[in-house]
Amino acid sequence: MKSVADAHEAVLATAKEMLHKGLVEGTSGNISARLEDGNIVCTPSSVSYEEMVISDLVLVGPDGTVLEKTEGRSPTSEIQLHLACYRAFEDVGSVIHAHPVWATMFACAHQGVPACVDELAIYTGGDVRCAEYAMSGSPGVGENAVKALEGRGAALLANHGMVAVGPTPEKALHIVALVERTAQIAWGARALGGPVPLPQKANDDLAGVYQLMRNL
Ligand SMILES: [Zn+2]
Repeated sequence: MKSVADAHEAVLATAKEMLHKGLVEGTSGNISARLEDGNIVCTPSSVSYEEMVISDLVLVGPDGTVLEKTEGRSPTSEIQLHLACYRAFEDVGSVIHAHPVWATMFACAHQGVPACVDELAIYTGGDVRCAEYAMSGSPGVGENAVKALEGRGAALLANHGMVAVGPTPEKALHIVALVERTAQIAWGARALGGPVPLPQKANDDLAGVYQLMRNL
């Protein structure tokens, strides 16, 4: 993110887009972006996306210390998940946590979303793994998510939802939407006898494309 203002605007616009795409409802889910100085701007806890404005966003340090906020606002309750992703992956510029219906169905069954369409492998690096269960808001959510995110752009959070990482909020949201769409496709393909996995070479080649494009 070039500037603090750019990051704030991108986080706010993406938060509203996430609601409009039906990937969250109410005040659930959260978005953050990392600035060049390492600080992080994130959506606040318990503010509806429709009413959210720039001044509702909260600035925190890499350890979660609140650096700047409007009175009455606090960082998202899943801030530890975001911080864990930034700590583990230094190339990540944005983290999004969402509760999309189809992806969360897989998360409730503790099943990953298979890379049954080329597009998913290109934009996430392969199948979307399901992280082990940890209670919402606990540090375990981030610890488990980081393991499932190794080499990937997204992971499911068991009995909860999903998380996506990318260079910008816009690109991370694209991953969230793609995982949701692929979960729906995989579910439908199961009704037709089950999705046929991509050939291993195709999967490997597309995962290579993902690694090259991950930061672009
Ligand atoms: Zn959540």
